[in-house]
Amino acid sequence: MKILDARILIIDADTGVVEFLKNHLGNHHVIESTGSGIDGIAKGSSSEYDIYFISMSLPDISGRDVLHAIRKVHEEAICIMMSANPSIDSAVQTTQMGAYNYISKPFDPEKIIPMVHRALERRWYILEARRLREERENNLAELSVDKSRLSTVINSIDDGILVINQNKEIIFYNPRFLQLIDTDRQILIGDSMFRYLPRSLQKQICEILRKAESEGKTGAIKQELVIKPPLELVVMANTAPIFGENGQCLGVVSVLRDITEMKQLEQSKSRFVNMVAHELKAPLAAIHSYLKMILDNTLGDDIVTYNTYMKRSLERTEALTELINDLMNIFRMDSKAVKRNLEKVEVADLLENTVDLFKPQMEEREISVNLALKHELFVKADPEEIRRVFTNLISNAIKYNKYEGSIHISCVEDGRWVKVTVKDTGIGMTADEKDRLFQEFFRAKNKFTRDITGTGLGLAILKKIVDEYAGRITVETEYGKGSTFTVYLPRVMSGE
Ligand code: ADP
Repeated sequence: MKILDARILIIDADTGVVEFLKNHLGNHHVIESTGSGIDGIAKGSSSEYDIYFISMSLPDISGRDVLHAIRKVHEEAICIMMSANPSIDSAVQTTQMGAYNYISKPFDPEKIIPMVHRALERRWYILEARRLREERENNLAELSVDKSRLSTVINSIDDGILVINQNKEIIFYNPRFLQLIDTDRQILIGDSMFRYLPRSLQKQICEILRKAESEGKTGAIKQELVIKPPLELVVMANTAPIFGENGQCLGVVSVLRDITEMKQLEQSKSRFVNMVAHELKAPLAAIHSYLKMILDNTLGDDIVTYNTYMKRSLERTEALTELINDLMNIFRMDSKAVKRNLEKVEVADLLENTVDLFKPQMEEREISVNLALKHELFVKADPEEIRRVFTNLISNAIKYNKYEGSIHISCVEDGRWVKVTVKDTGIGMTADEKDRLFQEFFRAKNKFTRDITGTGLGLAILKKIVDEYAGRITVETEYGKGSTFTVYLPRVMSGE
């Protein structure tokens, strides 16, 4: 445990001393020397030597000053002071200043060489201690970087994390956890979980701890917890035991994930399926009972009655087909699998075309139509989808109009929009009906609508189409007086 090839600096003007040390140590070590104290300080401070031999009397400054200056830079430097006039006082003084040894000149080789070996051994210990210290500091630095990295990750993830010990005390949680149990309170580490956690989570944790204690190794429990009903905050809590090295249960870790949106979606899906089933069932039940009456011969011999029932069945099948078509359209829109053939559509032409298709229905109910269309306004869209929008608006303006009512259709440019307005003098809507207008299957139920057939899907589809083109739709209505639907679609500007 000693240093080979040690670097030794001799600061002494006495060439005899330098020669002596070089002769006795030069084979194994690297020896440098200088006769000046100032030069010695410069050399000895700029890099650290393993041993410094410093003469007490130098031509420029005192040996003590050199010792002081070098130890100031290298606190652990091993300095051996040499004096031709040794005194107890100066030996004590330099030792107090940190000198390793104080020797008198001329040297006794019998003593000096073992002393150098001891000094080098001491130096080795110093260097080893320094290496270990640095290593530890580096490890600590790494550890603290690792720790802060880990806590940054845990604090930024979107899942809530909670750790509970065997005594059911909270020993760790991240900020997201507080949000997911809907609390503003700061939890104190070491506090009982019963003070803070929702009962359902307490139950889950107790069950895991009980199982882990009685059955040893046990898996995680996954469970949906309703934190805020109805469907305002639902979390999936995944709780697992933590086991120590010798198999004893140390506590549990719970990971909470927000599944509110998923639950809401699930609920609206099942509501939709229910509504579809209900809507399909009503016309099928009617057709079924008409056919049954015909087959059972309960209608007597009157051919007119038969015809009425057959006609009604036919109407119901048509309504079913319409419903199924609307449903398919809505699914297509929702699945985003619609293939669009985008074209530059001239809006006024398309409106005129659509109105023409409805002429027979208008004549039947003596409804007049008035068009105020500005031509040469274009939208970039699939013409079939825009036709569906206009068809729905015009068809409703007829269906929900009064006998001998009127419809006014206009098409104008409004900034970067093409604005299409369909105004009728029909039954209008109450404020509540207006609010629910675009909901799937919504149909106003009042004395006016009793005999009007429909699916309640037309406006829901229309809204999805308009949204798809980044447009918007507004409604003004007065119950018993009429409604105005306005659709805004992005206009193709000149040059586009
Ligand atoms: P449908 O006409 O097949 O019932 P829609 O989605 O087109 O379905 O319309 C939903 C409901 O909105 C209608 O049932 C009706 O109550 C109301 N509604 C739509 N358009 C008008 C209108 N122009 N005037 C009055 N009520 C309307």
